[in-house]
Amino acid sequence: MTKSAEIVCIGTELLLGHVVNTNASWLATQCAASGIDVYYQTVVGDRVSRIVDVLALAAQRAHIVICTGGLGPTMDDVSREALAAHTCTTLVVDPSAAMRLQEAAARSGRTVDESYYRQAHTLDGADVLQNDVGLAIGTALVHDGVRYVLLPGPPREMKAMFSNYALPWLAVDGVRLHSIMVRLTGIGEGDVARALEPLIRHQTDPTIATYAGIGDVLVRITTRADAQASMRCAPIVQTMTSLLGQYVYAMEDVSLPTVLVHRLTERMQTLAVAESCTGGAVAHAITSVPGSSRVLRGAIVAYTDACKQDVLGVSQDVLAQNGAVSDAAARELASCVRRRLGSDFGIATTGTLGPDDPVREAFVAVAHKGGCIVHHVPLVGTDRDTNKQRIAMAALACLWRHTT
Ligand code: ATP
Ligand code: MG
Repeated sequence: MTKSAEIVCIGTELLLGHVVNTNASWLATQCAASGIDVYYQTVVGDRVSRIVDVLALAAQRAHIVICTGGLGPTMDDVSREALAAHTCTTLVVDPSAAMRLQEAAARSGRTVDESYYRQAHTLDGADVLQNDVGLAIGTALVHDGVRYVLLPGPPREMKAMFSNYALPWLAVDGVRLHSIMVRLTGIGEGDVARALEPLIRHQTDPTIATYAGIGDVLVRITTRADAQASMRCAPIVQTMTSLLGQYVYAMEDVSLPTVLVHRLTERMQTLAVAESCTGGAVAHAITSVPGSSRVLRGAIVAYTDACKQDVLGVSQDVLAQNGAVSDAAARELASCVRRRLGSDFGIATTGTLGPDDPVREAFVAVAHKGGCIVHHVPLVGTDRDTNKQRIAMAALACLWRHTT
C-alpha cells in the first residue's frame, strides 16, 4: 500500500524567512524516491500549542508525520514536548544518549547545565533514532496508527538520521521508484505541457510531470523500480522525443552548461564570452562545470560602452547607431570577443533589466566561423537575479542549438 506523509518543519526562523526551508524539499524528494506520497507540508513556529494543532491536523490526513527542527538544548526547542502533549505520552531520558552527552561535555571541557540533557530526551515507548553527526537524538513513535518521526533541524544531522534510521524504521526502504529525466531548452513549460497533454491525461503508470526551471524545463517520467520499469517508460520516452526531440538537451539529470562543456571538449572547440547585463552569469555557469578550462578561453564583463570599445574593440558606430542593447550590439560583442580571444565561438549578452526601464529585454548572440546568430529574449518579471540567469541560459541554449 502506498503511504502518505506530511512534512512538518518547526522553527520560528523559518516562518520569519531567516532560514530557507531546504529540509522540506530534501525530505519531499526522499519520500518520492521511497514511494511515500506527500500531500501536505507545514511550517510552524516554536510554540507548543501551535505545534500540537499542526500534529493533530497532520494525523488526520497522513499515515506518517515527519517533523524537523526543535530538538536542540535551548528552551525554544520544544518539538518533543509538543509530540508528548499531542500523544499524551511522557518524556523520558534515553540513558545511552545521556551518557554520550556527558562524554561529549567532558571531552570539550565545557560546563553544561540541565537543559543540555534535553537532547537525550525521547518519549515513553518510542524508538530512538541515533544522531551520527550531532548530539540530539531523534524520536520515532507509533500512536493511534500514525507514525511520527522527530528529526533535528540542522540539514546535515537531519539527512543522516532520516536516511540511516528513520527510513528503515518506516519500513518503506524497499519501495523505490525509477525516474527518467528529460531536459529541454528553448521551449516554455506551458508549451511542453500542452504538447504532452494527451500523454499526461491518459497515463497513470508511469506518471509524467513537468517542472519549469530557469531557462529550461524538466520532464520526469516515474514508475515503480521493478524489472519492467524501463519497458513501461520506453513508449513514453519515444513519443516524447518524436514530439519535442528538437528541444531535448539531455535524457538524464545534467545541466545545460555541462552538456555544452562536454560537447565542445569532445570537438576540441573553444569559447569566449562577452557579458554586459548578465555580469558574469554565463562565465559562472560554464566555470561551474569541471573540465571547463579546456573549453573557456576567457570571459569579459563589459558594462560601459567605453569598456566595450576599449577592451573588446566594439565599433563606436554600431553602439551609437543602434544602442548598446540591440541586435547589432550583441552581434558585434560576440564577434569581437571571439576574435580578440581567438576562440571557435563567441557568446554575448546585452539587455535592460532595471525596474524603471520601459522595456525589459535582452539580446544574446553566438558568433562562429560562418557568421553570427542573435536571439531576442523578452523578459517577464522584475527579479533581477532570475532575469540574469534566464538570459545566461538563453545564450547557452543558443550555442547548444547552433552546435547540435
Ligand atoms: P540545534 O541543536 O542546532 O538547536 P534543532 O534540532 O533544535 O538543532 P533548530 O533549532 O530548529 O533545530 O534549527 C537549527 C538550525 O538548523 C537552524 O538555525 C537552521 O540553520 C537549520 N534548520 C532548521 N530547520 C531547517 C529547515 N527546515 N531547513 C533548513 N535548515 C533548517
Ligand atoms: Mg534549536
